[in-house]
Amino acid sequence: MRSGKASDRSLCHYGNVSCVRCCLPHIGGDACLADSGAEKTDLPAEGSPPNRPGSSNRYLGPHDIVMKFKNFNPLKDPQIEASQYEDCFADVGRTEMERRFSDRRKLFLEMYDRERPVQSLRHYMKAAQRNEGYKYQPPASAGPASMFIGGAVSRERSQKGELPECQLLGFVDGNGSVGCMAHPRAETSRGYDGRDRVGFFHHTGCCESVGCEASREFQFLSSSAMKIFDRAVDGMSWYEYSRHATSVLVYYLRGFDCLLQKLDARGLLETLTLEQLVAFTNSLYDGWPLRRSGRSTHHSPIPASVPMNALDILLTDIPLAERIMYIALDTLVLQDQFAARLLQARDHVESRMEKSSCLFL
Ligand code: SF4
Ligand code: SF4
Repeated sequence: MRSGKASDRSLCHYGNVSCVRCCLPHIGGDACLADSGAEKTDLPAEGSPPNRPGSSNRYLGPHDIVMKFKNFNPLKDPQIEASQYEDCFADVGRTEMERRFSDRRKLFLEMYDRERPVQSLRHYMKAAQRNEGYKYQPPASAGPASMFIGGAVSRERSQKGELPECQLLGFVDGNGSVGCMAHPRAETSRGYDGRDRVGFFHHTGCCESVGCEASREFQFLSSSAMKIFDRAVDGMSWYEYSRHATSVLVYYLRGFDCLLQKLDARGLLETLTLEQLVAFTNSLYDGWPLRRSGRSTHHSPIPASVPMNALDILLTDIPLAERIMYIALDTLVLQDQFAARLLQARDHVESRMEKSSCLFL
């Protein structure tokens, strides 16, 4: 359903920071908040696994900002996942991970032999796993199903060493850059691509196989949305970027990209922070006159017309970014009222921007 030309920018490596969520599934991250009705009390406690997706249309973004929008991907809603098994486990924290990265780098430099890469990588993996008390074994280690099966780790498995993790993740240089030590461009590998030999995803091909929707959506963000993305990730470490940039933030910006382009055309984006933007879109969401999730108590026994679902809205012939925005706003439109509702929706967005423009300057 995507239209337009994808850019060649990569969410996995952006600027001087890399995402490592694929290689480190228990890093934690942003997620959909459970629909408990309370605004704050259902935030996950520090060190606890994030809430599992519910249907609240409230997501926790960078700096614990609560973002209100509906996932526009009808195949994923409400879940936003960078891989197929993240957000299941408590985060082990940056300090602990960097301690492991440092130990791994030291061991890797000691054991890796560029003349015998396969054997030495195997020896390295065994030694690193032994040092870390690593016990996890994927139930399947070959074939296309192994990615999913390997990822379908029970949440009960929370003991040390029982969670999937790849010991090739470490400091790739002496400057503390985090990445895959067996990547052919990493200083540590000296040109040899060892990822598919011994890495955790050696049977699946690493990032290419994880089905990360955020990385695909990222390529379709407009230059206006990228202004906010750049501001939001500015100064993030590998840890923060991997937790925050790669799922909810991208979906949020994609959800409201139409609005961002309108704000940009009026010169209102230049100084807008993510917090200010979210305050605006949350209030737009809260006051949206075409709400789908039905707080109305009026029910007709025989519906006069069929409500359009997300796929129906995606199939209309208005610009894609606008279609996505109406889904993000959880819009209820009846099939035979689309044209009239569209005018109402456009008027409402314009009037809200008009009323709020002074807040952005
Ligand atoms: S594919 Fe997604 S989760 Fe994996 S590294 Fe890239 S952005 Fe991160
Ligand atoms: S081999 Fe490298 S890219 Fe693949 S999971 Fe391990 S650290 Fe990540």
